Amino acid sequence: MIFTVAIDGPAAAGKGTIARAVAARFGFRHLDTGLLYRAVGMKGGDPVAAARSLGPADLERDGLRTLEAGQAASRVAVIPEVRAALVDFQRRFARAEGGAVLDGRDIGTVICPEAEVKLYVTASPEVRAHRRWLEVGGEEARVLAEVRERDARDMGRADAPLRAADDALVIDTSELGIDEAVATAIAAVTGRLPRG
Ligand code: C5P
Repeated sequence: MIFTVAIDGPAAAGKGTIARAVAARFGFRHLDTGLLYRAVGMKGGDPVAAARSLGPADLERDGLRTLEAGQAASRVAVIPEVRAALVDFQRRFARAEGGAVLDGRDIGTVICPEAEVKLYVTASPEVRAHRRWLEVGGEEARVLAEVRERDARDMGRADAPLRAADDALVIDTSELGIDEAVATAIAAVTGRLPRG
């Protein structure tokens, strides 16, 4: 069975948690596509060359989850040649036999517009910054500024800007508990699975 669940949305909205839960529930493979951009941003040197030569070891290096890596990722993610270099790998992952969940910014709009299920997971900047701050610590105001800066860059870029696909189900986790958000996502997938 070829079946893709595309999950997009801004930083710290809960995409990763929902993606992992959906993948575990249905036995699908999961790809956190943000990790690809983080690895390119942290590799240094020419970002286009870094994207073209990205390998498994780059995805396992330390520090990919830091605020700095997130900022570096969103800076290289505006470069069309960087995005182009990462398209094939993501598409192959999405459409390989067995079912796949991909989370990112442009999965339902650009990477896999034919995805069987598209979710757009969002929350207010304040709620997302608070969650991120609980993980990384430091000054909450700085984390909020970082969230807003990254939103502006991701939503404002010319190539594959962050937006909900027209046919995406929007899940706002500002006031929804994680269990309810996961249940909503699982119901959406269950409703689209082939019967029998
Ligand atoms: O999701 P995560 O915070 O790891 O993403 C880091 C950055 O990578 C995002 O802010 C965005 O600029 C970029 N990204 C992207 N397209 C994706 C996934 C991530 O442009 N599909």
